[in-house]
Amino acid sequence: MNINSILEYDKEHIWHPYSSMDNPIQVYPVKDANGCTITLLDGKELIDGMSSWWAVIHGYNHPKLNAAISAQLKKMAHVMFGGLTHEPAVLLAKKLIDLTPKGLEKVFFCDSGSVSVEVALKMALQYWHALKQPTKNQFATIKSGYHGDTWNAMSVSDPVTGMHKMFHGNLPIHYFAEQPKVRFGEKWNEKDAVPLINIIERHSDTLAAVVLEPIVQGAGGMWFYSPNYLRAIKKACIKYNVLLICDEIATGFGRTGKLFACDHANVSPDILCLGKAITGGYLSFAATLTTKKVSNTISQGEPGVFMHGPTFMANPLACAVANDSIDLLMSSNWKEKVFQIQEQLDLQLSTCLELEPVKDVRVLGAIGVVELHQPVDMAQIQKRFVQERVWIRPFGKLVYVMPPYIISNSELSKLTTAIYTVISEIVIV
Ligand SMILES: *Cc1c(COP(=O)(O)O)cnc(C)c1O
Repeated sequence: MNINSILEYDKEHIWHPYSSMDNPIQVYPVKDANGCTITLLDGKELIDGMSSWWAVIHGYNHPKLNAAISAQLKKMAHVMFGGLTHEPAVLLAKKLIDLTPKGLEKVFFCDSGSVSVEVALKMALQYWHALKQPTKNQFATIKSGYHGDTWNAMSVSDPVTGMHKMFHGNLPIHYFAEQPKVRFGEKWNEKDAVPLINIIERHSDTLAAVVLEPIVQGAGGMWFYSPNYLRAIKKACIKYNVLLICDEIATGFGRTGKLFACDHANVSPDILCLGKAITGGYLSFAATLTTKKVSNTISQGEPGVFMHGPTFMANPLACAVANDSIDLLMSSNWKEKVFQIQEQLDLQLSTCLELEPVKDVRVLGAIGVVELHQPVDMAQIQKRFVQERVWIRPFGKLVYVMPPYIISNSELSKLTTAIYTVISEIVIV
């Protein structure tokens, strides 16, 4: 197909994420992607600032990850997981249990981040059901969170950006505390955790779990909060007998400078969600981990099993590439690399503070955020970034990057220079 017929058919028939079918903004056809470069069909080469939404941590078209999939493909692409098992799943479970915070020993594999959140919520409900406390069936969280687009994942995502109003009456009502204000690295103030602790205390009879993105709130606002907040909430969860679910779908596998964001606070949740970078960005895949206590309780209660089992559970291709992606990460100097990215983003993005449209700049690990006073004109800013030969996709008031860890200094400079240039052109009205 030529470029025009691809674009025409796409425009007429295919939904893109959060897009209009009536008046879609421009999409760019990709020919291929290698390392940190995305090559468009028209030959333009773009430096990737997004890691395809947190996932592609080792860069595109990685020889080792390609080989992992090819080798597994020669054995089997898939077998059902009901009644069968395979080495790639067992090896992966072992790696996840060894690397994640202490106490998480039972693994449930599933197909995507949103599903892993559904699974986590369901585990919490089944846990209290098994303990004959079925009134503990609600969830508490904080504003500006994001946990996915499926029904119950959406119900614990920010009520405003998650458009809860539109689904009014159909979404379960949960408790939302104010977003924590003390930033990562700032002096801790106990008051910050009080709103959520109050909810936990007041509603402990009806709360199954607290759901949090640890340290970094991703798609709901790109906000970095104090590890002390997470510690304080963990303490309150223990005190008032409420489970803690940590959603590390965005933060897992080194992105924040620790292997898992929970590690900043030395907190181990009762249930942990992993996704996105778990396969190095190769396949849609996720995992929900939990403790022996939760799994035993569920298994000893009614109906004696955990009620979930996706068709493509523990897909062998996904497990195989996840195994090699994690090996690649652990045998690399990822910590140093992420730290270098953080230092460079800090230095280079801070120059944006002198620009009139800019409200705030924040950096943690390999995540750099420039917050504006006004929402961007998506169509316009996207076009400008492509003209500058970078792939950066802002949303709302946020222009942000989370590049593959393998990005070079000069490639990263191209991203930060493009951000400065494009923001400097924004006319304040
Ligand atoms: C992306 C994301 C999800 C949803 O994952 P999908 O694979 O898109 O379903 C859930 N939680 C967080 C924190 C995420 O960043």
